Amino acid sequence: MSNIPKIVILGAGYGGIMAAQRLQKELNYNEADVTLVSKHDYHYFTTHLHMPAAGTDAIDNARVSISKLVDEFKIDTVKSTVQEIRIEDKKVILEDGTLSYDYLVIGVGGEVETFGIPGMTENAFFIRSINSVRVICEHIEHQFALYKQDETRADRLNFVVGGAGFTGIEFVGELSDRIPQLCKQFDVDPSLVNIYNIEAAPTALPGFDPALVEYAMNVLKKKGVTFKLATAIKECTPEGVLLATDEEIKAATVVWTGGVRGNSMIEKAGIEAMRGRVKVDEHLRAPGHDNIFIVGDNSLVINPEIDRPYPPTAQMAMQQGPVVASNIVASIRNQPLKKFTYENKGTVASLGKGQAIGVVGKTKLTGFWAAQLKKVIDIRWLFIIGGFSLAFKKGKFF
Ligand code: FAD
Repeated sequence: MSNIPKIVILGAGYGGIMAAQRLQKELNYNEADVTLVSKHDYHYFTTHLHMPAAGTDAIDNARVSISKLVDEFKIDTVKSTVQEIRIEDKKVILEDGTLSYDYLVIGVGGEVETFGIPGMTENAFFIRSINSVRVICEHIEHQFALYKQDETRADRLNFVVGGAGFTGIEFVGELSDRIPQLCKQFDVDPSLVNIYNIEAAPTALPGFDPALVEYAMNVLKKKGVTFKLATAIKECTPEGVLLATDEEIKAATVVWTGGVRGNSMIEKAGIEAMRGRVKVDEHLRAPGHDNIFIVGDNSLVINPEIDRPYPPTAQMAMQQGPVVASNIVASIRNQPLKKFTYENKGTVASLGKGQAIGVVGKTKLTGFWAAQLKKVIDIRWLFIIGGFSLAFKKGKFF
């Protein structure tokens, strides 16, 4: 049996893929065994999922086969679901086997946070993965078909989106673009369709520049979105939602985008975590575990300027991946580790076709130019992971 170090990466998301690609570049021949484990044999672009969820873009434009991203002569890829991490034994238990590691990278992404709202887990849809958005898209279309069979069921044309954060706003933007097409396809009067975006906080897009939030809300209102801010959802039922105000909105479709947390697998492994996110050290290691590195939504990095955690973003994950890889290589070679510093390159939220808001440095962008920037960001990611050919193949659809 080989006694070179074994590196196991859990999750082929933004953090995991970047770590794998950097390891394959930095490691010398036979310096370590690297295994990348992920639930699916493709990497998917979560930042693009609001589009296939609403049906404004094809599912396949939001994913790429892992085999196209990593060199399978250098990295073993395993399509499996991780069930448990056993730190004491340095083992990962998969649904169909076990892997031993010397160094572990945890990047399995976040989970939905419903804040214990009764019925949310059972009755709402979530924009989390390729499979979850496929279901949402088909469900929406099906509601139009069912409505045509029984036009007394007005709730079939009511769409509730819980949460007006980044994901909720991007999704209602796309949904409001899709509705006119569906109305035409199914001969439905567009005035019968309602999109409600419900948010417990007093503002949409909390944390975003207020002038940009106002711009975004005006754009979306014009597209037919009804906002209910400072309004908590008390319960989600098979018939719709019950609000804290005791108002009931009957809707056959409820999509919950109101919260994400870290991963419960981390908590179960006994790694110190806050709601499934590990407050990593400056080298992105789990405290007290020099051989366990954490990337992306599983990590918690403090913004020193405000002494609060940075929000979990793809941007954060993709910056952490290469640092984790370099630090594992440095650990193997007994060299000093790199410190991780996050660099905010800007934030853009799409509001549907040709519309977006964004902040880059001190510059605020709206409308067409912000939408172009969103495309550039998405295409840049394709270029980073798959070079010009992937950027050209998938990017032309963005
Ligand atoms: P992920 O990208 O979530 O990847 C996790 C990987 O782990 C997946 O491949 C998954 O299949 C795999 N996995 C999960 N569980 C297991 C298991 N048990 N076993 C094996 N494999 C497993 N961020 C931005 O910066 N900009 C945006 O515009 C933006 N838009 C977003 C829009 C939406 C709709 C959503 C949902 C998120 C958005 N985000 C955005 C946030 C961003 O997508 C996440 O922060 C980012 O994906 C985190 O990357 P990650 O590597 O931690 O995990």
